Amino acid sequence: LLNSILQKASSGCSNSVSNSLVPFPPHQILSSLQTLPLDGHFSLMNNGDAAKDFGNMHHFPPLAVLHPKTVSDISSTINHIFEMGFASELKVAARGHGHSVQGQAQAHGGLVINMESLKGPEMNVHNGEFPYVDVSGGELWINILHETLRHGLAPKSWTDYLHLTVGGTISNAGISGQAFKQGPQINNIFQLEVITGKGDVVTCSANRNADLFYGVLGGLGQFGIITRARISLEPAPKTVKWIRVLYSEFSTFTRDQEYLISLKDTFDYIEGFVIINRTGILNNWRSSFDPKNPLQASQFNSDGKTFYCLEMAKYFNPDGVEVMNQSVDHLLSKLSYVPSTLFLSEVSYVEFLDRVHVSEKELRAKGLWEVPHPWLNLLIPSSEIHHFAEQVFGNILKDTSNGPIIIYPVNQTRWNRKTSLVTPEEDVFYLVAFLSSAVPNSTGADSLEHILAQNKRIIDFCTHAQLRVKQYLPHYSTEEEWKAHFGSLWEKFVERKRAYDPLSLLAPGHRIFQKAV
Ligand code: FAD
Repeated sequence: LLNSILQKASSGCSNSVSNSLVPFPPHQILSSLQTLPLDGHFSLMNNGDAAKDFGNMHHFPPLAVLHPKTVSDISSTINHIFEMGFASELKVAARGHGHSVQGQAQAHGGLVINMESLKGPEMNVHNGEFPYVDVSGGELWINILHETLRHGLAPKSWTDYLHLTVGGTISNAGISGQAFKQGPQINNIFQLEVITGKGDVVTCSANRNADLFYGVLGGLGQFGIITRARISLEPAPKTVKWIRVLYSEFSTFTRDQEYLISLKDTFDYIEGFVIINRTGILNNWRSSFDPKNPLQASQFNSDGKTFYCLEMAKYFNPDGVEVMNQSVDHLLSKLSYVPSTLFLSEVSYVEFLDRVHVSEKELRAKGLWEVPHPWLNLLIPSSEIHHFAEQVFGNILKDTSNGPIIIYPVNQTRWNRKTSLVTPEEDVFYLVAFLSSAVPNSTGADSLEHILAQNKRIIDFCTHAQLRVKQYLPHYSTEEEWKAHFGSLWEKFVERKRAYDPLSLLAPGHRIFQKAV
């Protein structure tokens, strides 16, 4: 049985571990791991999920999956691999909710740790001058929202979609429409518990083991596995005024976006998206938004043109409706959108934050959720966004896009620059997210090949035009590319790898470090 499992795990892809030349054959490693006294267990079969992710483009089967119940299950497993010298054969990937798109949470022929099985201790909310919640690294943000709301509190910074784990998003950054004001999620963490690549369990914060703390935040899982996080909270609003307006000119759209994020008293959430060659945009919104001027809105014709939608939200409670309305009216009066396209809605805070889940359910029902997602996320300095838009929206994607294109600016001055996250060297930069879905078996413009070629054209354009763009949720194949991505931060990144994961055991899916450093 063991042999057939090992053959299965190592078939299908190159570089498998079943190579007679390596010092430790997989069965020896596995038998050795299975002697560990754990509260959780290893599974050797039915590990298909661990070889999948949201991207649906990479499928690397692991040798085994650890379903830990306790922090010590993870630390003793990693320590064992480290001490026994198995590290060159057996890489270890923490898997959160598997919503990476490029195999980042996979470990080919290695060990995947299913972080969602690490339950407990229970989520613990502390109310006080600086309220916080302690959660497991495998906890989903949607669960944290529901739990903290029971105390009238909530985290300050979000992602657009909440069915992601804490460990998964803070290994990247966690950016959404609140980030211009609150910083990304990695700026709203007080403390972490991390298991390093040697199996050490370390508590870290800005004042304690700060190098590991900042390294792990945005560190792409390279320095340790996050088992606990202490997340900063604020009083939660009950309701949200959610607003959308359209622009036909990119320059006016971005001018207004940048104006809004520069104000002290402004919206609580600011995003935007590009709408390419779509008909009936406003009709599509009508089920969830009310037009401010229904007659004018009904005469609006979007056919065939490119529009830019500014999306804003203001939080409020029932006793603050008047103040909220005055503030919204005042802010809107400063903007230059197409007047007939002002659409408003009032929804609960939970409905607003969990909005993408509604689309997920619709797409799942149509069989369109588990398709390939060749996503591309770029961070672009404000001074270069017009050049970028001219070429990308005006040329490369002139006629069609295969999914939403999200675009909004953030203020880097309000972000902590000590983390491992790499961003452009400019105070204001844009997140531009091409969230494409490919249609399986298509050979047309919605095929995976076509979208990948389009992504490459976008990246090639940025390179040739020497735009100082950085990838968010980065994906590269070679060390040279990674070096270029990190730029002057590369040395620091390597130094941290040497200190916390010298055998390069952790997070092999990123392909940053192939061997011991
Ligand atoms: P996984 O895919 O399981 O893991 C991602 C990486 O983190 C892997 O390298 C893995 O090894 C590592 N990792 C996982 N858990 C841990 C841990 N406990 N300790 C250390 N390393 C760990 N991102 C944004 O910033 N903003 C958005 O608005 C946003 N929207 C999204 C919407 C959708 C529909 C999807 C699919 C993704 C979105 N993302 C967004 C991207 C998302 O934040 C990342 O892909 C994130 O990594 C997914 O979390 P996960 O739990 O699925 O992580």
